[in-house]
Amino acid sequence: MTCVEAEPLIGASLDGELDPQTALRMEQHFTTCASCALLLERLQRLQQEIAEADLDWSAHADLRQLAAAIRRQTNPPWWRGPWVWRSVLGAVAALALVSVFLPSQPASSLERQMVDNHLRSLLANHLVDVPSSDQHQVKPWFQGKLDFAPAVPDLSAQGFVLMGGRLDVVGGRPAAAIVYRRRQHVVNLWVSRTSGSDRPVSTSELEGFHVLEWQKGGAAYWAVSDLNAEELGEFAKLIRSH
Ligand SMILES: [Zn+2]
Repeated sequence: MTCVEAEPLIGASLDGELDPQTALRMEQHFTTCASCALLLERLQRLQQEIAEADLDWSAHADLRQLAAAIRRQTNPPWWRGPWVWRSVLGAVAALALVSVFLPSQPASSLERQMVDNHLRSLLANHLVDVPSSDQHQVKPWFQGKLDFAPAVPDLSAQGFVLMGGRLDVVGGRPAAAIVYRRRQHVVNLWVSRTSGSDRPVSTSELEGFHVLEWQKGGAAYWAVSDLNAEELGEFAKLIRSH
């Protein structure tokens, strides 16, 4: 087995989702390939850190069960492609750099939660409940699952490819998570209802991720990605204009 074959399977290997024969071949690869073994170890550590930091999610077991039920009905996990793992590995590298060069500092709890949500969506085999690049499939999927109808704009002409949507929880409220991709970067966009008034985009950075937040027309939006600030800003602008 080569690294090219092994790399996209590391996540599945970590989750014990491989068939016995492939699992054995992966084990053999890990014993002979230091770089893949190191990636496995880093992902293990990251998954552990996320699990330990994950306090909010357990409070929303209902929604999680709902999401799990929906997930069971969906197709095989095609989104476990290599580019997802490149994105995850980029995240791991960013985290590793931060832990090496910066003393740990407390981030705002909501920003932290959004980055955790983003990482969880990449790691926990739960990027999308409805995998589709068609806005006319993704938008109706949210009907009856949320008490509002999130806009799902098609931004493919602007270089943001729709990947699908899923249900999530933000600040204790059900939220639509709409997933886009630019090159190998995943962009998670969360939309939830708010009684607050309109707010312009505020930007922050946490552990190599950009977190954009704004409110418009009774909805609160968050966008998180390891995409650079300029392009994520462009994304927010496009979403706001729809
Ligand atoms: Zn390897």
